[in-house]
Amino acid sequence: MSNIRTISGEIPSHQLGFCQCHEHLMISKGVPSDRNPALCIDDIEKSKQELLHYLAAGGRSLIDAQPVGCNRMEYALGILARETDANILCSTGFHKLYYYPEHHWIHTFSEKKLADTYIHEIETGMFVGSETCEPDDFCSFKASMIKTALDKEGLTDRYQRLFNAAIEASIFTNAPIMVHIEKESDPLVLLDYLTTKGVTAKKLIFCHLDRACDDINIIKKIVGEGVFAEFDTIGRFKYHSDEREIELIKELLADGYGHQILCSLDTTRERLRTYHANAIGLDYILKTFIPLMRNSGIGEKQIHNFFYENCVSALAI
Ligand SMILES: [Zn+2]
Repeated sequence: MSNIRTISGEIPSHQLGFCQCHEHLMISKGVPSDRNPALCIDDIEKSKQELLHYLAAGGRSLIDAQPVGCNRMEYALGILARETDANILCSTGFHKLYYYPEHHWIHTFSEKKLADTYIHEIETGMFVGSETCEPDDFCSFKASMIKTALDKEGLTDRYQRLFNAAIEASIFTNAPIMVHIEKESDPLVLLDYLTTKGVTAKKLIFCHLDRACDDINIIKKIVGEGVFAEFDTIGRFKYHSDEREIELIKELLADGYGHQILCSLDTTRERLRTYHANAIGLDYILKTFIPLMRNSGIGEKQIHNFFYENCVSALAI
């Protein structure tokens, strides 16, 4: 039987339960929120209530996708896991460089030092307070996966260094690599880069393809190689309707890719109901989107796969 790493330790994979693979539950104030005020989610009591609504609706697990040194709140996440009994999975890795200050260590660390940082976070413990100083102090909570970001600028030297570190850490720890895919980037070039350097496609989760990729054939090519496609433009009506989201999911199902679909909300402050009264809330998938999928004819087994089996396949170690 396989195990899953959570912030509270390893659990047998059957205990993962209903899982949303890309959320944001806590982000402290800093450069991310200077860039976008919706990226400040720093009230632990509100985040706890949000999580309790999710658990009450049938949720069990989620990934917090904020990486090290980028205003991740590792202690708060540990407290939330302990107080609610939710399975929280944390991220090491890197985000778009746009989200870091000019003099941040992410710009100067060597590939090796970055890889060692990521491996330490997964195997030993996550660094604390590392947005303002180099990673040094750490806690006993561990990261589960390696978040990365493909920016519009593509695989320039500065991004190759970051991706190479993520690759080394993934191969060493067997942790999956999650990729933020930016609109106007080329995910196929990245996929080729990663697999050429020895990462198996099954260890990759490509996020936001449903809003970053206008061409469904590119998404099909990516999943055709074995990558997990994470659809997280659910309840994000400035991009497209939920009906459109379901059409995309059905296109992949029709081609037999039902075992590679993950669904999540990629929440920000503006989509958490305890922060914004009219927001959709972390329980939106359970309460609204799953009933919509059912009504559209997507079968119960398929829906179950998106939130249970596929998550285990993507995250098991
Ligand atoms: Zn995100």
